[in-house]
Amino acid sequence: MKTQSLCILGSTGSIGQSTLNVVEQNPERFKVHALSAYSRIDTLVTQAIRHAPAVVVVPTDTARQAFRQAWPSSVPCPEIRVGSQALCDTASESAVTTVMAAIVGAAGLPSALAAAKAGKRILLANKEALVAAGSLFMQMVRDNGAELLPIDSEHNAIFQCLPGSDRATAPDFPAPGVKRLLLTASGGPFRATPIEQLAHVTPEQACAHPNWSMGRKISVDSATMLNKGLEVIEAHWLFAMPPDRIHVVVHPQSVVHSMVEYTDGSVLAQLGQPDMRTPIAYGLGFPDRIESGVGLLELATLGRLDFHPPDLERFPCLALAYQALEAGQAACIALNAANEVAVEQFLQRQIGYTDIPGIISRALGHACVPQHGLPDSLDAILDLDARIRDLSASWCRSVA
Ligand code: NAD
Ligand code: MG
Repeated sequence: MKTQSLCILGSTGSIGQSTLNVVEQNPERFKVHALSAYSRIDTLVTQAIRHAPAVVVVPTDTARQAFRQAWPSSVPCPEIRVGSQALCDTASESAVTTVMAAIVGAAGLPSALAAAKAGKRILLANKEALVAAGSLFMQMVRDNGAELLPIDSEHNAIFQCLPGSDRATAPDFPAPGVKRLLLTASGGPFRATPIEQLAHVTPEQACAHPNWSMGRKISVDSATMLNKGLEVIEAHWLFAMPPDRIHVVVHPQSVVHSMVEYTDGSVLAQLGQPDMRTPIAYGLGFPDRIESGVGLLELATLGRLDFHPPDLERFPCLALAYQALEAGQAACIALNAANEVAVEQFLQRQIGYTDIPGIISRALGHACVPQHGLPDSLDAILDLDARIRDLSASWCRSVA
């Protein structure tokens, strides 16, 4: 067994912390080469003292100073790199074998692409990278022999249910004999809230997910179900599956993490506790199974599992995501960028929860989103992303 040398992008976040937790349970398998954080520098310092990385990456000189000041003089200090180019350089350097892409939002795209270009094993949590740049990202993975392992629990479940789960390297898709992918969705905190009350829900209520503990942005996305929409787009790119063969099923218990239906009528599911350490351990250990610290699934105690179709009146963001996927790459960039701005404004209490789909819808309809033609380079993608962010910010001000 060869030791993997890890670069954990976004190590202070929910996925980053769970990754380090799994690493700690399997010290013989992993060496932490690099950690990165955008805020909470004190948490980064604590992580770096514990895991002794060679490198940490922070966003600004101020953050670099804060890191150095908090660092104990008795311990050798890691090299401190600054800025987004440093994230790309670190993700692609030769000392790294495996990159955990766990930055939130399209901000994680350049470094995830850099890891693909450098042919790394990529554990992809950052779904926004695939939403904004699916075609380019997958091409980069293929062209450079990178290995892509999905960490999002639904995609990890599907990956486990697709043919050849005993393979030693991640396979190419589409997989033969597959009819449909069935993505499960919990329905979030507002699954049963009267629709007329949704206009008044607070960020605290939106972030209080019934089953999963996650960062604030993905928690709001789960409440609106735009998260499931992003995941439909993610599944399309990861598994080369057309949109009409990717279905969403609401499953409030979050125990069945997703399913694959085959042409012979067989449906394979992956089940487990709703704890991200399971898919993270799967990605870290692949093709071996390693300890994750996740407890047993006591089905007899659970008693029942429920399933029903998504309510698109309650969750208009899900329909918007299918619309974007049908419309093409530019629309997906617009969907993601408008959502990131709208969610941040909702978290800052500048707009209401029910304003979020309106902002996304305006972005999808805007003239600057080309109906044909792909933004086919990272620069073109980031340029459209920035234009949609500016517009969305002004639309948010107008509804505030
Ligand atoms: P989080 O907010 O808890 O953590 C985000 C991390 O990214 C932090 O380390 C933060 O410092 C860093 N970061 C934020 N903005 C940045 C920027 N502009 N540049 C560089 N670094 C930045 O988020 P999370 O819940 O851990 O989610 C991370 C990613 O994983 C998201 O794309 C999310 O959709 C995906 N994901 C999360 C979960 C989950 O259970 N949390 C499940 C599936 C997928
Ligand atoms: Mg998910």
